[in-house]
Amino acid sequence: LVVPDFATFTDELTGMYEALLGDERGAVADYIPQLARVDPNQLAIAVCTVDGQRFAIGDSSTGFCVESVCKPINYCLALEEHGADVVHRHVGREPSGRGFNELTLNNDGLPHNPMINSGAIMCCSLIRPELDAADRFDHYTDAWRKLSGGGRIGFNNAVYLSERQTADRNFALGYSMRESGAFPPGTNLLDTLEFYFQCCSLEIDAESLAVVAASLAGGGVSPLGGGRIFSTGTVQNCLSLMSSCGMYDYSGEFAFSIGLPAKSGVSGALMLVIPQVMGICIWSPRLDPLGNSVRGIEFCRSLVSKYNFHVFDGL
Ligand code: GLU
Repeated sequence: LVVPDFATFTDELTGMYEALLGDERGAVADYIPQLARVDPNQLAIAVCTVDGQRFAIGDSSTGFCVESVCKPINYCLALEEHGADVVHRHVGREPSGRGFNELTLNNDGLPHNPMINSGAIMCCSLIRPELDAADRFDHYTDAWRKLSGGGRIGFNNAVYLSERQTADRNFALGYSMRESGAFPPGTNLLDTLEFYFQCCSLEIDAESLAVVAASLAGGGVSPLGGGRIFSTGTVQNCLSLMSSCGMYDYSGEFAFSIGLPAKSGVSGALMLVIPQVMGICIWSPRLDPLGNSVRGIEFCRSLVSKYNFHVFDGL
C-alpha cells in the first residue's frame, strides 16, 4: 500500500476538516447568480490514493461545477489527440504573470499557457473539432467518467447558460486569438467558445474529483483498476503546467510554499496532485481575492506542514 497506515492519515484529515469549518473568510464568486447562490459554508475533503484507498468527509457527494478545473483535463485531451509539438504551436507554457482572463497574448500572439482562459479556449479548439457538438461533448464527458473511475459526472445547464450570457471577456479573448492567427486552420470560434462554456459547467463531486486527481497522480493510470487513460508524457506535461500556472496569481507562491501541482476554480474547487501517492479534492466556495478557495489553500498549508509532500521535501 502506498499509504500503509491509512486510518491514521484519515484521522489527521478529519482534524484538518474540523479546524477549517470555523474559517469563514472570503466570498463566493458572484459574476453569475448561479455561483453567488451556492451555500458558502459547504466544505468537502476527499482523497484517493494511486492504489485506490479512498476517504471523504463533509459535503463530499454534493455536486459543483468544475469551472477552471476543466483546464488541465482539456489540455490533456488536446495532448492525447495531437501531441505536445502540435498543441504548443497554438498555446505557450509560460506563466502569464497576469490575471486568468486578462486580454493578453504572448509575443507570438498565442495564449501564455493552457491554465488560463485563453489557453483553455485554445485547447478546446483542439479537442475533436470535426465532431458535432453533441458527440464532442460525449467524448469529453467520457474522458471525465474514466478519470473519475465511473464517478458521477453531471452538467449544470443554468451555469452553462449564464456563463454564455456573461462571456464578453471570453469572446474578446477568442476574437483576439483569431485575429492573431493562433487557432488551427478551420476553427469555428463560436463552436469552440460554446464547448468551453460547457466544459466549465460540468458538474462533479469531491469524491469523484479526488479520483480524477489520483488518475493524474498515477501518471494517467486509473487508481480504481480502469487501466491507462492518458499517456505518461501527457500527464507529465499537465502536472508541470499545473505546478507553474494552476493557482491563478498565487501559482508562484503555491509552488514555493506547497510545492505540488494543483488547479483551482471559481466554484471553490481545488484539485491537488501528490505524484505517485494520491489525489485530493478540497471544495469550499468562499474565495480569496485571487480566486482560490480560502479553505482549500489553508488545507494545503496544513497538509504540507504535517507531511513531507512538497516536491523538494525529500532533499
Ligand atoms: N468559466 C469561468 C470563465 O471562463 C472560469 C472561471 C474560473 O474558474 O477561473 O471566466
